[in-house]
Amino acid sequence: MKQTVVLIIISMFIASCSKRIDSQYPFYDIDLEFNPGKQYIAVDCQLDIPANYRSDTLVFYLHRQLALSELTMDGNKKFILNTDSSDIRYMPFATRYEIIADNPVHQKVSVHMEYSGEITEWSGWSPSVISKEWTELGLYYPWYPLNSDFGLFNYEVGISPIKNQNIFLMGSSFKKNDRITYSTDFPTNDIVVCASEDLKIFSDSVGECKLDIVHNTFPDTLLHALRDEINDISGLYNKWFPEGGNRICLVESMREQGGGYARLGGIYLSGLSSEDYFGSRKKYTRYLAHEISHLWWYRADANTWHDWINEGFAEYSALMVLRDFYGQEYFEKWISMKQEAVKGKAPVWHYDRSGRDAHTIFYDKAPLILYDLENKTGRDEFRKLMNKALVQEIGTTSLFLKMLEEEKGEEVAAWFLKKLKDEV
Ligand SMILES: [Zn+2]
Repeated sequence: MKQTVVLIIISMFIASCSKRIDSQYPFYDIDLEFNPGKQYIAVDCQLDIPANYRSDTLVFYLHRQLALSELTMDGNKKFILNTDSSDIRYMPFATRYEIIADNPVHQKVSVHMEYSGEITEWSGWSPSVISKEWTELGLYYPWYPLNSDFGLFNYEVGISPIKNQNIFLMGSSFKKNDRITYSTDFPTNDIVVCASEDLKIFSDSVGECKLDIVHNTFPDTLLHALRDEINDISGLYNKWFPEGGNRICLVESMREQGGGYARLGGIYLSGLSSEDYFGSRKKYTRYLAHEISHLWWYRADANTWHDWINEGFAEYSALMVLRDFYGQEYFEKWISMKQEAVKGKAPVWHYDRSGRDAHTIFYDKAPLILYDLENKTGRDEFRKLMNKALVQEIGTTSLFLKMLEEEKGEEVAAWFLKKLKDEV
């Protein structure tokens, strides 16, 4: 009996290790020390990169005020290290590190880095800040070695408790060696550390969906209204789409600048108050519905024009929620606004993701093409197509067109291609 228990424990241990080692996604194992009052952070980071992500050159970005004291790859320093200033527009204060391996590497690799520094420089629009009053560390700095090509990854971040600061990171948390460790439940695309003296976490779950609302100032009426709204929206998605999206957090950001943003599994909003929310309820429904739908719509590379799949479907899903909640007329009002906005704009086809009209192309034009597709196929068939795209994890335009051809025939696929190119 005793042996059986030991065996079970050992196999559980192996199972939990292999989950990490065999993970198909990059994995960050981070120890973070930080002092918000001094704007100081110190990081010990081990990054495991699976073989399918490997090339002979690895690129990372780190905030330029963070001094690197240790860097090894698989325990050695057999590589060339080049540094340069950032070439990514949303990380203007970052340093670009390029590691070129001595020998071609075709297997999984572990990069170990240690660095520290006081972060005092960030741009006026930066949603990443560090201060005693409010800390929100994310990729805009970036505070962890970020590779924008990774897309999704997992993390485990251990933090020692800090006096007078409550901390929140997306995922599950548990105590490990006097530290609180935060661990992703599913892959995401940023590591956002939030902290403040008054930070509170309101947790709830309805059915399969676990919700954390992280806030400093929300009264109960607002917390309950947000919970109900998020549950209603995710309830619809779980009805329409394959099962998923069972954990989400909404964070009240205490910044005055920088606006809101969403990550896979998390929404970070600044300036949200009861007055604002109850005064513009429908506006928030659309916003929340769009962001929550990204728990399903995230497979395309967000740095390329294929991002129309993420954003077009996310926005159209949000419009479908509006139609369900507030009726056909309100839905059509949004359609007309978008039709007005896209007049004279370029086609979606190969549109530059950082081009001048990117917002209109990806958030107005792409959902309008999906609206046309829904009109062509009928609502039930359109939902089946959405489902198919999700089940098949479609992340490129050619795969989407191929799926459309298989499901609806050559003619519909050719028509859709022409729509993307603005030829019909
Ligand atoms: Zn979006």
